[in-house]
Amino acid sequence: MAQPDLSPVGITSARTAEIARSPWEIALQQYDRAADKLKLGPAVRAVLRHPKREVTVNFPVLLDDGSTRVFTGYRVWHNVTRGPAKGGIRFHPRTDLDDMRALAMWMTWKCACVKIPYGGAKGGVTCDPKLLSARELERLTRRYTTEIADMIGPDSDIPAPDVNTNSQVMAWLMDTYSMHRGYSVPGVVTGKPVSIGGSEGRNEATGRGAVYTIQEAAKLLGFDILGSRVAVQGYGNAGQASARFLAELGAKVIAVSDTRGGVFDGDGLDLPLVTRHKQETSSVVGTPRTRAVSNEDLLELDCDILIPAALEGVITAENAPRVRARVVAEAANGPTTPEADDILRSRGITVIPDVLCNAGGVTVSYFEWVQDREEFFWTIDEINARLRRVMVRAFEDVHRTAVEHDVDMRLAAYMLAVNRVAEATLTHGIYP
Ligand code: NAD
Repeated sequence: MAQPDLSPVGITSARTAEIARSPWEIALQQYDRAADKLKLGPAVRAVLRHPKREVTVNFPVLLDDGSTRVFTGYRVWHNVTRGPAKGGIRFHPRTDLDDMRALAMWMTWKCACVKIPYGGAKGGVTCDPKLLSARELERLTRRYTTEIADMIGPDSDIPAPDVNTNSQVMAWLMDTYSMHRGYSVPGVVTGKPVSIGGSEGRNEATGRGAVYTIQEAAKLLGFDILGSRVAVQGYGNAGQASARFLAELGAKVIAVSDTRGGVFDGDGLDLPLVTRHKQETSSVVGTPRTRAVSNEDLLELDCDILIPAALEGVITAENAPRVRARVVAEAANGPTTPEADDILRSRGITVIPDVLCNAGGVTVSYFEWVQDREEFFWTIDEINARLRRVMVRAFEDVHRTAVEHDVDMRLAAYMLAVNRVAEATLTHGIYP
């Protein structure tokens, strides 16, 4: 059986040193920058620096060959002061507790940044889903759901899809939870199929929301999306939708990639062809009439909009000096290290930070949860119009804060978000 590739995207030695600090250390560094700037008091500062609840579960799964393997999974709540815990579930060989802590903290800031009434959480299982059959994946999902069943629920913690999980995995999760209750509980999870209470537009929401923020950035910077050149690292849920919507606005998507590498066409890729090739072969690599490009080189292409839409820690102090985009739109969570942020800022490159750029996913997840609770469903036009309002308002809030405090968009987004969560924490008071 092939072994999974555990190395992060296009890693180099300088980058290894930065990633050696885990995403959690990076998340804390980003938080500390905002806390310093806000002059947060020591008590609330310490509260927000710690995840509220962390659960690790080890559980057996029966494999198709009759053997049993023990997997390790996690669910972490960073903060639930502003509402129930909300965050995706990731199946990946590199998933560990520190990853979960970072991603949960980023969810807290993201929900606060776009004013969605949720706290932040994340979950995952350390596994390579490409090495599991559909039946094995279903058994793993159902057992993992059962292991974390006392945390999740429509009033307490609502999971959603993330890397290597999709609407089918969410359907298994909902069904497992519902079986334990004895009745159907659609509100326990978002990103599920429309046929069982999912929302129109949720599949594409992360990409659509990212594009709304890119349109705002382009207006500010005075360039046209029409004819602009776009490179996307990670042609999955977030990356594909971002590429498609930008192409619909007249942009030329010149490069996209996945774990196996990337494809390039300076005149603009034929995206339906790339998507079909990925569906048929599991990779974009080898799409007819394209040239190969590595994941490393893709980040340094001459383009207007660079969209990291895969994993954390790919833009670092090592390669940031060579990034040539005007805008880096973080569809992925945590793709840029703090050192790289400083370099990009000094080079005049605008970064639309993850907690703003990819918040369209959690925003339509919130719409889905509201629809499930009301048992009343909205049209795709209503959903997209509401999503645009949320994303544009959040972009304006972040930009205004950045100008007022003369900071970059990341620090501005963090200052807004951390301040909102700190205020909620102080208003609640310390129990008992
Ligand atoms: P996905 O599994 O649908 O897609 C991930 C894509 O990235 C795949 O095409 C995969 O091949 C590619 N990829 C993985 N490792 C790579 C590597 N080392 N080099 C190049 N490409 C690589 O996952 P997704 O849901 O699109 O998530 C992608 C990012 O977006 C993650 O950071 C996730 O946390 C973030 N995000 C997702 C959502 C959502 O709604 N799905 C919402 C907000 C943020």
